[in-house]
Amino acid sequence: MSTIDAEVVIVGGGIAGAATAYHLRGRKSVIILEREETPGQHSTGRNAAIIREICVGPEIAEVMDEGAAELRKGQLAEYIRCGIVLAGQGDGPIAEHFPDIPGNGGWHEPGGVVDVAGLLTTYLQGSDLRCGIDVRGWQRVGDLIEVQTSKGTLRTHTLVNAAGPWAGVFGELPLTPRNRTIFITAPIEGINAELPVVWYLKEGLYFRPESGGLLMSVCDQVDAAPGDYTFDSEVIETLVEKLEAHAPRLQDVSISHYWVGQRTFAPDDGFVIGHDPRKPGLFHVAALGGHGVTASFAVGRIAAEAIVRGDNDAIAEDLRPERLLSSVSK
Ligand SMILES: Cc1cc2nc3c(=O)[nH]c(=O)nc-3n(C[C@H](O)[C@H](O)[C@H](O)COP(=O)(O)OP(=O)(O)OC[C@H]3O[C@@H](n4cnc5c(N)ncnc54)[C@H](O)[C@@H]3O)c2cc1C
Repeated sequence: MSTIDAEVVIVGGGIAGAATAYHLRGRKSVIILEREETPGQHSTGRNAAIIREICVGPEIAEVMDEGAAELRKGQLAEYIRCGIVLAGQGDGPIAEHFPDIPGNGGWHEPGGVVDVAGLLTTYLQGSDLRCGIDVRGWQRVGDLIEVQTSKGTLRTHTLVNAAGPWAGVFGELPLTPRNRTIFITAPIEGINAELPVVWYLKEGLYFRPESGGLLMSVCDQVDAAPGDYTFDSEVIETLVEKLEAHAPRLQDVSISHYWVGQRTFAPDDGFVIGHDPRKPGLFHVAALGGHGVTASFAVGRIAAEAIVRGDNDAIAEDLRPERLLSSVSK
């Protein structure tokens, strides 16, 4: 009789793989394989940690609502409910919330920031996470899947593609990683963790308190190969221009460091969650774009339930991989 190493093998120890494993606990045996020596080195370790369900497309709205509500309870990881000002989207003076910033905006009181590293740790607690293992391929053998890795072969019933920026290549899906830069400033007088996120949706700029200074982004997005974090120095000029135009008080702050991260998108910007109709045994939890932290709890729940059921019937059509595979009968 064939033996398996685990009922489910998850490729990727980012927030997608971790949240899926969290919801599978006690229901399926799971091994998570992560190429890096520690989990959360890619998109999950390079984001802005902002939790908000506003300003998202209808295809992911419900998932975002559920995910944000769960994180706000503060039980999975520390949540700072600092609010979000949507600059230009309302009549209240921004300065009522964030001193010396001109203009008006709308106020989203429940918005805030989560401790992403803490959240990842909670999701991974008690899981069989194996780091430093690169998944190089897989094949179906009878009713099992053989997973080839840099450290040998594993056998499973379900292989989960939670490979983040690599999910398109790994799962043969039309996904695009896009680079975005995050800047962290040196400490600034008068900035504390209670101040809100200020987000200029149309103009493409946001900032929020971080370590006594600010975390900032100009919402740059450039298509890139998975793992290619090349820094585009023009983004600094764009940052200076946007601060000058919208938040002149901040235009002279000094940048202490920056990083580039990848947000991975499907062509319709929706998440991709579900069994692959082309490849029995392969399951995707991918394309979480710029929302993967907020949505993680709900994404993991949906994925785990579908893995346990063995079909995509309980997954909204807008999320299923079928929609991207027009040549495959649904
Ligand atoms: C700049 C930026 C800002 C963002 N801001 C926010 C925000 O404010 N709020 C929010 O909710 N979301 C935000 N996001 C989005 C969020 O970070 C992502 O949606 C989420 O982290 C994606 O998680 P993931 O697990 O799919 O990918 P990842 O975290 O990249 O995990 C994938 C893992 O798979 C591993 N892997 C890949 N291929 C293999 C292989 N063959 N073998 C073994 N391991 C493999 C990788 O090493 C990686 O660790 C932001 C993202 C970026 C880049």
